[in-house]
Amino acid sequence: MSDPEVEATLVNSGSVWLWVIKKCPFCGVEHVHGGGNIKGDPRKLLGSRSAHCNANSVGGYILVEQLPSSVKEKRRKSYYTANVRNLIEALSS
Ligand SMILES: [Zn+2]
Repeated sequence: MSDPEVEATLVNSGSVWLWVIKKCPFCGVEHVHGGGNIKGDPRKLLGSRSAHCNANSVGGYILVEQLPSSVKEKRRKSYYTANVRNLIEALSS
């Protein structure tokens, strides 16, 4: 089974970035992962991470940036637009 994706919110803690997961897919509680120095790029630290659960190692998950809902909506729209265009092309060829 591949690791689940979890959405993390970027938090500026002053000297370092933090990636905060509101609800862990394994244990359901909040976890905080380091995002590196505040002058660095925290997105480099997204991706596969081991879960910070209290229980003994349950595995890992893929950290993805939680985008504002307006951005998500825009992406969803363009996704469907692309699909419709492909469908039209397939039908007309
Ligand atoms: Zn957990």
